[in-house]
Amino acid sequence: MLPPIDNVINVPLPIVCAFMAVLGAIIGSFLTVVIHRIPLEQSIVFPASTCPRCHVAIKFYDNIPIVSYLLLRGRCRACGAGISARYPAVEALTAILFAAVTWHDGLSFALAFDLAFAASMLALIFIDAEHMILPNAITYPGVIFALITRVAVPYLAGPAHFDDLPQLMSAFPSLPVWLVSLIGAAIGALAGGGSLWLMGFMWEKLRGVEAMGFGDVKMMLMVGAFLGWRLTILTILLGALSGSIAGIIVMYRRGGRNLQMMLPFGIFLGIGSIVSLLFGSRIIIWYASQFR
Ligand SMILES: [Zn+2]
Repeated sequence: MLPPIDNVINVPLPIVCAFMAVLGAIIGSFLTVVIHRIPLEQSIVFPASTCPRCHVAIKFYDNIPIVSYLLLRGRCRACGAGISARYPAVEALTAILFAAVTWHDGLSFALAFDLAFAASMLALIFIDAEHMILPNAITYPGVIFALITRVAVPYLAGPAHFDDLPQLMSAFPSLPVWLVSLIGAAIGALAGGGSLWLMGFMWEKLRGVEAMGFGDVKMMLMVGAFLGWRLTILTILLGALSGSIAGIIVMYRRGGRNLQMMLPFGIFLGIGSIVSLLFGSRIIIWYASQFR
């Protein structure tokens, strides 16, 4: 294991969080492109962003996250067409998320991995909300990324970074840490992907309709491998809870007729995974203490 970064760079955590919030706003600006283009199977690099109405290329100085939107009062500089408030919203949300993950991790070698995970969850949430899909272009590389994290981070930041790893290491004392970590990833992926697959399967048998695409299953393979089985089960519980609450609200507003209508579950699984990443260990400790 490497020495902790804060032994080398001694910067107060609130300053690191502020810096990461700025980075988050920039990544968020990139995420708005990802959210818009990945479902359309367009390149996320070329061409540069243009105004959807007048097709004038957006100047770099008009492309500063959040700030440009406020300065331009949400209008295109060339033609005055309204710019969707979704752009600054995603940028601000990513900024807040990056600050929160940094606050949670501290200055650690694991931080970059957790930030990438949080950013991909945010992209999946917004893509599912807009297009009702969870694209393979994110979930497949996401599974590979989770496995790389599992191999590297125990050596970079220590096994205790993972919720499940310390316990697993005492169960397999003779195996190398990276292998135990991958076993944890496999158990987590099975718990996440397996339960989503089972839910879809049962729903199909009960109702005779296709409940969900395999996007949710693939998403939960990634989440399960990354977070481990306990935080993954928590993710599904939080997803089901927030999804039900949202479903009741939507049904109430629409007059409570259409039980068949579907909310994209990926949104709520994404929210659950981020809450689990940030607060999961504490929620589990609190929950366990209720039974003592
Ligand atoms: Zn324009």
